Amino acid sequence: MKTQPLKILFLTAEATPFAKVGGLADVAGSLPRAIRALGHDIRLMLPRYGTIRSDRFRLEKIGEPFLVPVGPEEEPVHLLGTSLPVKDGDELPVYLIWNDLYFSSRDRVYGFEDDAQRFTVFGHAALGALRLLNWKPDVIHANDWHTGIVPAWLNTIGRGKEFYKGIATLFTIHNLTYQGITGRLILTFARMEHLKHLEIEPPGMVNWLAQGIAYADVINTVSPQYAREILTPEMGMGLAPLLQERKERLFGVLNGIDYEEWNPATDPHIPHRFDAQTIDGRAANKTALQQMARLPVRPDTPLIGMVTRLDQVKGMELMEGVLEWLVSQEAQFVLLGTGQPEYHQMFEQMQARFPDHIRAFLKFDEVLSHRIYAGADIFLMPSKVEPCGLGQMIAMRYGCVPVVRAVGGLVDTVSDYNAKFGRGTGFVFSEFTPEACQEALARALQLYNQKDAWRRVQKRCMATDFSWSASAQEYVRLYQRALEMHST
Ligand code: ADP
Repeated sequence: MKTQPLKILFLTAEATPFAKVGGLADVAGSLPRAIRALGHDIRLMLPRYGTIRSDRFRLEKIGEPFLVPVGPEEEPVHLLGTSLPVKDGDELPVYLIWNDLYFSSRDRVYGFEDDAQRFTVFGHAALGALRLLNWKPDVIHANDWHTGIVPAWLNTIGRGKEFYKGIATLFTIHNLTYQGITGRLILTFARMEHLKHLEIEPPGMVNWLAQGIAYADVINTVSPQYAREILTPEMGMGLAPLLQERKERLFGVLNGIDYEEWNPATDPHIPHRFDAQTIDGRAANKTALQQMARLPVRPDTPLIGMVTRLDQVKGMELMEGVLEWLVSQEAQFVLLGTGQPEYHQMFEQMQARFPDHIRAFLKFDEVLSHRIYAGADIFLMPSKVEPCGLGQMIAMRYGCVPVVRAVGGLVDTVSDYNAKFGRGTGFVFSEFTPEACQEALARALQLYNQKDAWRRVQKRCMATDFSWSASAQEYVRLYQRALEMHST
């Protein structure tokens, strides 16, 4: 696509390799690079948490500290700079907002009582940093509730300020579940008392996701199916009326995955590298995974893997029943995940009951995640809600066949195996019940025993293109649309 180069600021609370909680980090770490590779001047900005080490990332101070409003006071903020490599020797500029009180003294991205204040500070700091840099982007691409304040500010106060006038906004909803709902005092803290109360906000509260949606020039979410689902009262998490109102500006763009990070042919984290031609090499990764998980090393026993947050939205309530059934089928199961304590407990108990079948690694471990994608036969994602889902795409790239529920991006990325025509890239179930999930797993286990047919499914998975190239171009089109919408 031939277009004028655009200037874009990509604003996010997390980005690989700096800070990662979930899929947003993967997207923020790879999409801007893909857009940069198309010739646009896109730059990434995120807070500098305490875990982001200056020596590891070669962080350098830019200019003098500047002040951002925090209620009646002001707080000094430093801007740090570094870069990430892009193809052909180009680099993606990365800016980090450094403030001790709100970010650098914290060892996690989220989960603090003052998260709403923290990300208000981030929003103001991002806007202030542009002045320090004297760099005026055409578009600010804001992501999730943490950045909802930015479209709201730009389309109200910002319209009256020479420097900010004309900056368009794209607001991406990676997950509607998290909305950043907080008391209305936040508006005083943010010096934005003028913001109108939206009908969908609880009385006395501000909903930052809703504010982002209400003010952005263009809105998108991370798969076409999820874009349709969130317009319904069942899946709209209370925001369906607002989204309906702005439907003309709402789009769905499927996420991609970073093909360099996730490449079984070059992956430094897996014991044995392979590609579609040398797929037999996967067997050694399976053995290594069984050993590491202290499960019996049996090449022909199907090994089901999961890498997930342990959260209700990921379908955790189905898992106890599904695990008992898998054990009854003599299958093996390996999980990597962290999250809600009740699910930690459940997996610990199941592992104690069935040590020869179940192993749960209850932690966050990047390297182990690669080993599971490379070593498991089947990847399970029984999500209740799934905006896009990266796990199934990564699994497919590694020849690990997905079993998924027909929801959100899982619908757009996995096609159900059809025995009659020998088509499909996985096994899909619809109803949110353990029985429906077991039925799909049973079909997978049955095909697993037909080695040639199974190989063909694995190869189809590996041949599916989940790289960012197509989606990056769609984002550029959305930036152009945001510019058009902003000026009207
Ligand atoms: P979500 O964003 O809802 O968490 P996604 O499937 O979109 O779900 O993205 C999850 C990403 O986080 C994947 O890259 C997955 O490999 C990774 N991930 C999830 N849990 C862990 C964990 N415990 N250790 C390492 N990586 C994890």
